[in-house]
Amino acid sequence: MSNVSPEQLPFGRQSIDQDDIDAVVQVLRGDWLTTGPAVEQFEAALSAWAGAPTVAVTSGTAALHTAYAAAGIGKGSEVVTSPMTFVATAATASMLGADIVFADVEPDTANLDVGAVEALVSGRTAAITGVDYAGHPVEVDALRALAHSHHALFIEDAAHSVGSRWRGEPVGSLADLTTFSFYPTKNFTTAEGGAVASPNPQLLDRARHFRNHGLVRDRSVQRTPDVGGWHQEVHELGLNYRLPDVLCALGLAQLRKLGRFKQRRKQIVAAYNTAFASVAEVATPPCREQADPMWHLYPLRVLDGRRRGLYDALRSAGILVQVHYVPVHWHPAYADLGYIRGMCPHAEAFYEQQLSLPLFPGMGDHDVDRVIDAVTRFFQRG
Ligand SMILES: *Cc1c(COP(=O)(O)O)cnc(C)c1O
Repeated sequence: MSNVSPEQLPFGRQSIDQDDIDAVVQVLRGDWLTTGPAVEQFEAALSAWAGAPTVAVTSGTAALHTAYAAAGIGKGSEVVTSPMTFVATAATASMLGADIVFADVEPDTANLDVGAVEALVSGRTAAITGVDYAGHPVEVDALRALAHSHHALFIEDAAHSVGSRWRGEPVGSLADLTTFSFYPTKNFTTAEGGAVASPNPQLLDRARHFRNHGLVRDRSVQRTPDVGGWHQEVHELGLNYRLPDVLCALGLAQLRKLGRFKQRRKQIVAAYNTAFASVAEVATPPCREQADPMWHLYPLRVLDGRRRGLYDALRSAGILVQVHYVPVHWHPAYADLGYIRGMCPHAEAFYEQQLSLPLFPGMGDHDVDRVIDAVTRFFQRG
């Protein structure tokens, strides 16, 4: 045995090439650091992937906050969503004053269960927010129809699934509002960053205003347009969630590679699926017929109760697996509001078994083999 500690293999990481660096440096040498030409270029390139117009913002969290604000979510609104997500999906609606209703997930995909949502929607439901867990789209058609039949909006938290498709249609074009994240571990990166996509011009316009303090510069809708060229008005309050030119240039360079990233992620997922098909103690992630995921996570499920043991063994071998996610209603901030353990049994059982294996486009075949060997050896040892 070598006593040189092996190179660490994270569950996800960015792929940055020279062309990404050049794109950023070029903006740094130019006239605009914040709102310049790269913002609209990035939004246009992203829209081509999303199949709908987009508004770039500073993070996936900002995108959710902006989407909920655009949807008019506030005090008295109910938002029905999944507990099998990062806390921001619910927290951003809570911070606007909404009440969160957690609906359980499908036991295999960990995506919102349509029947569970159906049992919980009411006249107070303002939005149903699906989360494309691991990059696999939610049951888009059923959830959108359910939302619309209750005069609510269907929102898709697509932090994991930029580049995914459902029935051949791109994620971004399917929901009333879709949110993306460009954090380094996600499908492509702008360091921090995110976006809102919407095929609905009114909703997207509200998102665009919320991103920039609610400032109205269009003279045709100003209340007092004739006071001078400097004049601008705020009609509805907003925040500064503008994604700077420097980061949009990085995003633009990254988007040119998204197709390649998707292919590589697919290859790695296929290699894992094949290798683990014969390991009785684990379950591999399913894929619905309508789905063409850009896999963000590889959620392995450990069926024999030894998730903690596998986590510790892989971590000490330098394979930095992660668990996604602690059910949102288990966090003390929500538990203190009265949400109880046991209310979403499928999500909770999924959490107890889940382990995210390394998955990112920069992984070589030897990295994939190293993970497969470590996992299979753990179960062979018994
Ligand atoms: C990453 C993530 C977010 C938040 O995105 P940030 O860019 O980190 O703010 C929201 N929802 C889900 C499901 C995520 O994975």
